[in-house]
Amino acid sequence: MSVRVRADLDSLPAYVAGRTVPGSTKLASNEVSRGPLPSVVEAITHAAHEVHRYPDMAATELVDALAERLDVPTERLAVGCGSVALCQQIVQAMCAPGEEVVFPWRSFEAYPILTKVAGAEEVRVPLTADNALDLDALAAAITESTRVVFVCTPNNPTGTALREEELVAFLERVPSDVLVVLDEAYREFVDDPQAPDGVELTRRWDNVVSLRTFSKAYGLAGLRVGYAVAPPQVAEALRKVYIPFSVNAVAQAAAVASLGAREELAQRCAEVVAERKRVRDRLLELGYRVPPTQANFVWLPLGQRTQAFNEHCLENRVVVRAFTGDGARVTVGTPPENDALLEAAASFAG
Ligand code: PMP
Repeated sequence: MSVRVRADLDSLPAYVAGRTVPGSTKLASNEVSRGPLPSVVEAITHAAHEVHRYPDMAATELVDALAERLDVPTERLAVGCGSVALCQQIVQAMCAPGEEVVFPWRSFEAYPILTKVAGAEEVRVPLTADNALDLDALAAAITESTRVVFVCTPNNPTGTALREEELVAFLERVPSDVLVVLDEAYREFVDDPQAPDGVELTRRWDNVVSLRTFSKAYGLAGLRVGYAVAPPQVAEALRKVYIPFSVNAVAQAAAVASLGAREELAQRCAEVVAERKRVRDRLLELGYRVPPTQANFVWLPLGQRTQAFNEHCLENRVVVRAFTGDGARVTVGTPPENDALLEAAASFAG
């Protein structure tokens, strides 16, 4: 007799991480290309001296700093080991086996995985022909069994963002016992004044969560910290299903220091936004279809040509993220990194 792993894990899709290829430019994981700020490195070094102790499980300093920054009471905040852990905590906290999680597709690839792991049922809702979220279809997919709807804006991997007006109209249609999770991992890169601010919406709806992360604009992907702004009973539930101590002490210190470096980080975001426009404009000029993006990446819906594009980029020492048969997602990097991508894109004849 041998141990038995759950049989349904065989059909679980793998989470494919962006590859690192030595000597190549990695534009595959929506990271920021620049390393941590000196003030953040200092906080990390300082925290390193205390790592023989367990971290503060309540992440008190970080939660207090977030509460002040966002002007929300601490009881409405929860932190997690990256916002992906919070996605998982939400499904675990809200869904009994067999209950439904509705999400757009294509979107963040963790949604189907963590739904299945929790024993919940996934309901995928196709994007519009313009690669945007289809809010009518998302609303129509909600049934009596639906507990959670993920709304990813800007959407990974397509970059498209919702307008506040349409999101509010959607929220008005969602039953009040269904939790709407606004996954705003890329919110800091948004420059459309008509885009919603999820944290603001959590003040007006008792069934809305905003999920944010320190991995993207804050440049702390390697440290794993995210946070949720949620109704108090949801935040409490997220704390209950939290793996003890999973936001480590170094990560907490770095996140607090990052919140203190507001100006520098805003400046970095502005640089990415400027480069995003340059990259997209040039790709359009080259004849690519590129949906408008509000994130730190662009989406090239290349369909059957995706794999050839991916290989061509690799030959040109640029690593992009290919979704076979669908499209390629390319992170906006530093100007020289983007130049390398644009050169590869210009010479692609596939
Ligand atoms: N949500 C979206 C839409 C993402 O793209 C990502 C990262 N790829 C995450 C959540 C998770 O980010 P992290 O766990 O690093 O906070």
